[in-house]
Amino acid sequence: MPTYEILSVGEELLCGLTTDTNATEISRGLREIGFSPAFRQTCGDDRDALAACLRLALSRSDVILVTGGLGPTYDDVTRDAVAAVTERELVFHEETAARIRAFFDRRGRPMADNNLLQAYVPSGGEVLPNDYGTAPGIWLETGNRILVLLPGVPREMRALFQEQVLPRLTEKYSGAGCVRILHFFGITESELDGRIPPSLKNGSDPAVAPFAGTGEVELHLSSFRESEASAREAIREAERVLLADLGSYCYGADGDSLESVLVKRFSSHSLTLATAESCTGGLLSKRITDVPGASAVLRSGVVSYSEAIKTKILGVSPELLAVDGVYSEACAKAMARGVRDLTGSDFGVGITGIAGPEGGTEKDPVGTVYIAVADSAGETAARFVLGHGKGERRFIRHLASSHAIAMVLKAAGLFSGEKEEK
Ligand code: ATP
Ligand code: MG
Repeated sequence: MPTYEILSVGEELLCGLTTDTNATEISRGLREIGFSPAFRQTCGDDRDALAACLRLALSRSDVILVTGGLGPTYDDVTRDAVAAVTERELVFHEETAARIRAFFDRRGRPMADNNLLQAYVPSGGEVLPNDYGTAPGIWLETGNRILVLLPGVPREMRALFQEQVLPRLTEKYSGAGCVRILHFFGITESELDGRIPPSLKNGSDPAVAPFAGTGEVELHLSSFRESEASAREAIREAERVLLADLGSYCYGADGDSLESVLVKRFSSHSLTLATAESCTGGLLSKRITDVPGASAVLRSGVVSYSEAIKTKILGVSPELLAVDGVYSEACAKAMARGVRDLTGSDFGVGITGIAGPEGGTEKDPVGTVYIAVADSAGETAARFVLGHGKGERRFIRHLASSHAIAMVLKAAGLFSGEKEEK
């Protein structure tokens, strides 16, 4: 397996003015073909510093992806540093010069002479034409190393990387990688980790690695084999083994999210939903409506923050509020039933709780949330204590909305449904 290294060039990256999204995107793209970089370096717009970084990278990595510093100004030093370190001449590339001239002509703008500096390429380097800007990418093989130079402007970098670099790398390393992400909810990272079979944890291929998110855990399965088909087969087998034990916690795969599987599965079963939210203030319906196609599923969302609205719109009885209180399973159930009846949806969901930082009680500390789902068979409800106390309002609200989606999916029997195939 080749080793990869990313080298980001730019003073603005070093001093924190710009976040290095290019390196992140490159890493993610490489992941898609089953690779992950072994190192990352960042350096400023300094020729000697960059040369030192390049030497280090060439000493230890097979493929080095450099981003930035290909501009036409004095502080753009990548071409020079690469030429110096690889002992190549910079040669004028007529085709690139013509492209740069045409780029300015199309925009009706005069071209400064220094723009033609971008038409110089270290000898032996192949030009990767840039359709979005003036600096071309450069593919340079030196000894058994590959240097790939990409522009710093994220839009240009992305296009070149996706359209030209990834396909070349895939072809070059004719084996193929495959990555599969499984999404789990309702199980902690440590419990999940403890239940991964030892055969998948010994660092062999396929590899399985857990990643924890907000209340969710992902397992990343990766394989690198002689062909894409056999990598895919290895991943499929690992997935089968994992899901035999953990399937009931796994709601989706790859690009799935809780809200996207809700919309996808509800619409494919022609089911509708309405939400009645108190402490989440509309976050649940917001997350659902972030997904294209949500209109087929979500009928309505009521943000019933005050008790008066819970009574007036959702029909929660004042007696119930007086006896059980607003923070109770009974209230969540009445909200769920109320919004279901009000909208004629197949499912209603009610959320009431204390997101904090104030308002906790002995019985119901900050983070206590009651969630109920109503369908034609009646209501189910659950009490959760989320977060770790004060100051986690956002976290508590997000988790509450996630639990609500999971409960709705489970009530519909659709939690561990069909998982997306890339
Ligand atoms: P080019 O090679 O395309 O001329 P450059 O590095 O020479 O790029 P800069 O002027 O340094 O050009 O950067 C262009 C823009 O791209 C700036 O807004 C800069 O902040 C941004 N940029 C550069 N490198 C990165 C990076 N690694 N991640 C995100 N943004 C970046
Ligand atoms: Mg720069």
